[in-house]
Amino acid sequence: MNILLATSNKHKLEEIRHILKVSIEGCSLNVKEDGTTFEENAVKKAKTVSKKFKCIAIADDSGLMVDSLNGAPGVKSARYASPPTPENLCGKLLNALKDSKNRKAKFVSVIAIAYPDGKTKTFRGEVKGNIIKEMRGEHGFGYDPVFVPIGYKKTFAEMKPAFKNKISHRHEALIKLKGKCWR
Ligand code: IMP
Repeated sequence: MNILLATSNKHKLEEIRHILKVSIEGCSLNVKEDGTTFEENAVKKAKTVSKKFKCIAIADDSGLMVDSLNGAPGVKSARYASPPTPENLCGKLLNALKDSKNRKAKFVSVIAIAYPDGKTKTFRGEVKGNIIKEMRGEHGFGYDPVFVPIGYKKTFAEMKPAFKNKISHRHEALIKLKGKCWR
């Protein structure tokens, strides 16, 4: 089965390949992520690629939702700071939170699959955790250095990628996709 993943993010591609264990190629594209939900953006990306290359396409739209910031940065997570390096994204987030006592947050991933006949399905995964007060760890990307999932002491960036891949929001969404779309 030939599947394309609508992303230019090599971390996402590796994570998704590792979890799905199918041959999948990345494909960067210019799609304006102007939806108000993860679902809208994921479907838009997957449909664009599926239509262009006439194949099955998968897309992930993901982000971090912080309780005390009313769910921000949310769907705008990738554009929260510029350039979107972990230092800039995490630095801006830590500034916004300052000494806030409520540091609850969750990572959300919505995976959309689009078929050449235009049909689509979406699957959502979430991981709850807390934002710590400084950056820790060298792995991963984005907000990984400041996010500690509930039940763990390490940030996502301190965990080995193979371990993070087993407990991540993307893992949960992809397992749901795998269960419904192929075995
Ligand atoms: P998008 O799905 O391409 O809009 O980008 C989502 C953005 O959310 C990424 O660029 C990261 O900044 C952030 N993000 C999503 N998933 C993760 C993750 O697993 N770790 C760290 N940051 C993430």
